[in-house]
Amino acid sequence: MPTNKPAYIEESCLVVMIASCLETPHKETGGFLIGKGQKGRLIFGQRMDCLTLNTAYPVLTQESGHDYWLPGNLSAYNRITDSIRSMGLDLVGEYHSHIGDGSKLSIADKRFIQDEHDRFRSKGFEVSNWIEIVLNISEKRYSRKQARSFGCHLFRNRIRITLKGFRDPRIGYSVTIAAYWFDHEKVAFQEAPLYLP
Ligand SMILES: [Zn+2]
Repeated sequence: MPTNKPAYIEESCLVVMIASCLETPHKETGGFLIGKGQKGRLIFGQRMDCLTLNTAYPVLTQESGHDYWLPGNLSAYNRITDSIRSMGLDLVGEYHSHIGDGSKLSIADKRFIQDEHDRFRSKGFEVSNWIEIVLNISEKRYSRKQARSFGCHLFRNRIRITLKGFRDPRIGYSVTIAAYWFDHEKVAFQEAPLYLP
């Protein structure tokens, strides 16, 4: 796998990730990513081989706090992965939020991803190109009232989403999204360029 292979986030996947992370903006959250590899997808006028992320599934049975996120019930967790697979869909990785800590993977994140990969393998399926998406949420406070707005732009391989005035006219959120490939043979992580429609 070329390590700089891009990941393309479809709108439906982005909406679920953003809404699920902003459901609890003071607590981490996370879930699974469903997608598939695509050859020659047209992205900004160029044909690229990429991983297309079709949708995300937020895990409901989780334990989380300001700086951690874990499956709260292993049987429930297994039922999610089993049902996704029995519908013939490919699990390609996971996403989780950070609360103002930046969008880099922590040491605990890297250990968790490795364990997840091994756990899936022990259940008889391997995610060969694992991708982990991190969404860092920063709350913004404004002195003046802000109109309800949504902004989205790409910068340095990442995506930044800005939402203003939807809950309180003086509060907004900035969400920075980064993606990382996990190479389980080399036990290495590499940032993946992200694209949107
Ligand atoms: Zn993390």
